Amino acid sequence: MTVTRRALPALALAPLAAPALAQARFPDRPITVVVPFAAGGPTDTVARLVAEAMGRDLGGTVVVENVGGAGGTLGAQRVAQARPDGYTLLVHHIGMATIPTLYRRLAYDPVNGFEPVGLITEVPMTLVGKRTIEANTMAELVALVRRQGDRINLANAGVGAASHLCGILFQSALNLPLTTVPYRGTGPAMNDLVGGTVDLMCDQTTNTTEQIRAGTIKAFAVTTPTRVASLPDIPTTREAGMPNFEVSVWHGLYAPRNTPAEIVTRLSGALQVALRNEALVRRFADLGTDPVAQEKATPAAHRAFWQADAARWRPIIQAAGQFAD
Ligand code: ASP
Repeated sequence: MTVTRRALPALALAPLAAPALAQARFPDRPITVVVPFAAGGPTDTVARLVAEAMGRDLGGTVVVENVGGAGGTLGAQRVAQARPDGYTLLVHHIGMATIPTLYRRLAYDPVNGFEPVGLITEVPMTLVGKRTIEANTMAELVALVRRQGDRINLANAGVGAASHLCGILFQSALNLPLTTVPYRGTGPAMNDLVGGTVDLMCDQTTNTTEQIRAGTIKAFAVTTPTRVASLPDIPTTREAGMPNFEVSVWHGLYAPRNTPAEIVTRLSGALQVALRNEALVRRFADLGTDPVAQEKATPAAHRAFWQADAARWRPIIQAAGQFAD
């Protein structure tokens, strides 16, 4: 009897509630966020923190899948070619602005293949070396590289990766080419730097801070105009006399092109909530970064920023004549 009485009003309301339920049903299964670099690196770290916090707001699971290789283009291709239903997303970095010029042949459209959902964060980079490298300051490192340039190598995550761009700036500040060693992401490259099989790497503070603090690698400089609060003892490249060696790495969230606007808006709302999550903000700060302001975690702000950055890099890459193919 009790059951019947409770069930009746619900049944009576069912036809009215149906459209609202249909709309509220996104997501009704796990969302996959593709990271176009190996696990354990900075893009992966940012994506996992964001995915967890977004999942809480969306009331569903957001899983991260690492599709590394080819400087971040393989993972981006996977998302550009995925069903535009909001269930396959991409977290990528500054490479989204450089890849369209660096790669003249790609199996996907690097400019029009995506709907930007929102910016996430901008992360300083650090120039770091293996613990046993025979230099403790930038001046000593420059002298060492000038003496033994052909024997010093520099790890990166492939052409178009942030570590590649940062490495180019370092080499042009020195006016010396170094041997580069590409990885599927700077997560595995960090393992080799700690193990001493590679000598140097440029990478985001989200991957280097804990190793620097633990003393398992050496830090020579941060690549921002001012020092980074979480690494107060590390000088800037500007202080080290290399004012043109500056770069920070922005990250954004993307859906495939033609994802319905309501879904992009819902995802962007969840991103904005995630970026205010206290645990996420604290973890970002520990790793030397902050989430972007809320108005930047929107599709329009992301699109404008992405387009402006791609326009900034195009002539630089064209003038350097260094293409990936
Ligand atoms: N930080 C890397 C880069 O762009 C990529 C990664 O592994 O997240 O060089």
